[in-house]
Amino acid sequence: MTKLTPMIQQYLSFKERYPDCILFFRMGDFYEMFFEDAEKASRALGITLTARDKGMPESVPLAGVPYHSADVYLARLVEAGYKVAVCEQVEDPRKAKGIVKRAVTRVITPGTAVSPERLPAKSSRYVVSVASDGEESGLAFLDFSTGEFKATTLRRAEELADELFRLEPAEILVPKSLLDIPGVGEAVREVSLSTEPPVFMDHPEEEAYDPDKARRTLLEHFRADTLEGFGVEGFPQAVRAAGALLYYLRETQEPEDVPPFAVGGDEPITIPNPLSHVTGLSYYSSSDYMVLDESTKRNLELTRTLRDSKPAGSLFWFLDRTVTSMGGRVLRQWLHSPLMDVDRINARLDAVEWMAQDHAYRLDLRSLFQRLSDLERISARIATGSAHARDLRAARETLELIPAIKALAGKAESSKIQEVLEGLDPLEEVVGLLSMALVDEPPSSLRDGGLIRPGYSAEIDELTSVQRDAKSVIAGLEAAERQRSGIPKLKVKYNKVFGYYIEISKAQAASAPSDYIRKQTLVNAERFITPELKELEAKVLGAEDRLIELHYELFVELREKVASRAVQLQENARRLGELDAIAGLAEMAAAKRLTRPEVDESGEIDIKGGWHPVIPELVKTERFVPNDVLLDGQEYQILIITGPNMAGKSTILRQTGLITIMAQMGSFVPAREARIGVVDRIFTRVGASDVLVRGMSTFMVEMTEAANILHNATDKSLVLLDEIGRGTSTFDGLSIAWAVAEFLHDAPGRRAKTMFATHYHELVDLAETRDRVKNYHVLVKEWEGEVIFLRRMVPGSTSRSYGIQVARLAGLPAEVIERAKEILENLESVEHDPAGKPAISKKAGEPRKKDGPVQLSFFPPSEPPADPVAEKVAGQIRDMDLDALTPLEALTLLHEMKAELKK
Ligand code: ADP
Ligand code: MG
Repeated sequence: MTKLTPMIQQYLSFKERYPDCILFFRMGDFYEMFFEDAEKASRALGITLTARDKGMPESVPLAGVPYHSADVYLARLVEAGYKVAVCEQVEDPRKAKGIVKRAVTRVITPGTAVSPERLPAKSSRYVVSVASDGEESGLAFLDFSTGEFKATTLRRAEELADELFRLEPAEILVPKSLLDIPGVGEAVREVSLSTEPPVFMDHPEEEAYDPDKARRTLLEHFRADTLEGFGVEGFPQAVRAAGALLYYLRETQEPEDVPPFAVGGDEPITIPNPLSHVTGLSYYSSSDYMVLDESTKRNLELTRTLRDSKPAGSLFWFLDRTVTSMGGRVLRQWLHSPLMDVDRINARLDAVEWMAQDHAYRLDLRSLFQRLSDLERISARIATGSAHARDLRAARETLELIPAIKALAGKAESSKIQEVLEGLDPLEEVVGLLSMALVDEPPSSLRDGGLIRPGYSAEIDELTSVQRDAKSVIAGLEAAERQRSGIPKLKVKYNKVFGYYIEISKAQAASAPSDYIRKQTLVNAERFITPELKELEAKVLGAEDRLIELHYELFVELREKVASRAVQLQENARRLGELDAIAGLAEMAAAKRLTRPEVDESGEIDIKGGWHPVIPELVKTERFVPNDVLLDGQEYQILIITGPNMAGKSTILRQTGLITIMAQMGSFVPAREARIGVVDRIFTRVGASDVLVRGMSTFMVEMTEAANILHNATDKSLVLLDEIGRGTSTFDGLSIAWAVAEFLHDAPGRRAKTMFATHYHELVDLAETRDRVKNYHVLVKEWEGEVIFLRRMVPGSTSRSYGIQVARLAGLPAEVIERAKEILENLESVEHDPAGKPAISKKAGEPRKKDGPVQLSFFPPSEPPADPVAEKVAGQIRDMDLDALTPLEALTLLHEMKAELKK
């Protein structure tokens, strides 16, 4: 580029300072983007790319969006994974000499960006920051829309990954160097890449993570002398993570410390004090919560279904009967973080039970909740100075409901509810101030006056009356002028261009008094002014300007006064959310006849008449059959569950996991009776459907998940294995499934309660050599040529010959069926060695034949088979995956075998 216009020079200087951002360059009523930014944005936003205008050289690509709808575009760019720097004009363009001064006033990232109105009301949006010294990792997270700010420490990289998955961050911050720390770097990358598009990752400068610097950032922000009160003292990595997070937010929210110039009196775009709603930091321990890793959350469909990733059909969809957004967010947090502490769980259950019992009470309470606004996000806007008048009114109305809520909820005989109510403060002085100062129906704009209630400010009242008087004099003037001129149709009117004027129709214009000054000639009328009219007008308009100014000033003052109670406002919001979440769970419990689970430290899961919470809601054609499940970690540690396809194996596994989660989050459960010994973690390996998410083969995904289970399961875990080994050849799969089950049985400290749904019938032999393994199967019945699913899980293993039954159903000739049965028996008989032990379940440690094959074999290789043709057919049967065969395929195969045998 040979000649750069000064504007483009200015643009490029900003671009240099924010190279990783798309630069929104304010020009009048538009934000313009140039060069490759314009190309990126036009692609991401579907806006037109041009190459002219604005005094630029012809070749500069250009794209723009109107400033008043910029939020929408910002949100979309950020969703698409971009970071955007907003560059504003910071002086009045009309007064500027040369190029208008500009400054970047905000950097927008996924975690911080979007105005709260655009967030889904019932979910949180966390920015998460991680620091690590290799030994230990600190993690801090902040919800920018509410100010919630917490930190913790994690020992192992897997724990870090789990916690990150749990939080579902919108944005991850790490120092670049962290990515090179073995284990930790991979964990962060894995989480980031687990979504499409990947979770946005950014790297604050290393200095921000410096222990002293981070500490100072926190102390300065909270105006504190010590971090003791926040409980983070003594957790250096947590302090580093939290400090860097705040530092980063300050950099993005106030990058250059310049307020933008407000064009045409519109509201400034930046908020005066963007972080003042971050009022506290608290330390939490991740061992307070059950661990739910990403694949478990996905497989159990906690918030989204596997099939279409939609909320409808998920557990949250089923459970959520909250009436406020605050309650919805609390419930979602509870769902993602089931408790481990029996007392805390029972306190929640007590509260839910109390509310579930009394319908009238719950109805009254919930109808009060219905009138609450989202006080949490409103408080954040108040604290940051971006709240509108209607926000303040909503805050007042919400606070006004607190005494009624306290009175009603206070009847509850529940320590949990009482404790929640104790910290709920009706803030009478705030309510009093707001009702005195603010009108009942404030306008949506802050720049049109009409905000402050009469009687609150003497100056406003006086100006209002001056304005009113002048207006009525003007109105009186119309009558006087009609008389004087003798023109009965003379009118006094107002418009924005001329202010007040007198209008007379063309026909009568000639009789206008001589002191009228002509202003404008229309087709049918003439418009005039008089000095007297203009004098009155000056009074009215002067008063109006001053009034608008005063209303605004007093409003801002009012907002600041309310902001001084932001901490309590947020506290109130959290507590109202908790009450709503409890009431929502109670509502659910009553509506769906759920049962209070008995939660204890027994380590047992004993469910009687349990059902899947969601399936009966979705499938109305078949009555849902409840089932019992007993896992006691002793006799019943591992349940091997067999049964044909579609029998209901996966469903039983899932419902057991869901019931456990519901119990530990403090919810009633779908069962006739349930006793749940707290579980520290649920592992799942469910279905082979969700393949290739991260570009791995099914089998690789499956084995990675299996490895994770074997490394991390404890005696207190619940492991749900569904069709493990399916992604590989029969023998590989079977042997891996077998070994995994043995490991979970034998390895000390890893004896997780395990449910193992499998199509490998061979696995039922495990029960013969392992004490704590029990066989179950899901009943089906063959009746008049149809398979009927009974859906009942009963002890014992199922018949092995489903494949052959299916073949019969498909109409295979009787002789073929008979022969197939013989062959099958033959195969099965060799599964037991002469001593009667299952041939493929040698105990670990028992000597294996030195020269024996590592691959399992049903036939000792040393003995040549008696009949080579039969052996070949047997081999074919052996390699069949009966569950995967269609009847037609089975038929074809049998034809081939028969032909083979006839040879
Ligand atoms: P499997 O894992 O044995 O192949 P699933 O658990 O996937 O079978 O169940 C298949 C379908 O059967 C489910 O989608 C559900 O609609 C239905 N089903 C499962 N269990 C029950 C039950 N206990 N009562 C009624 N319907 C059930
Ligand atoms: Mg299944």
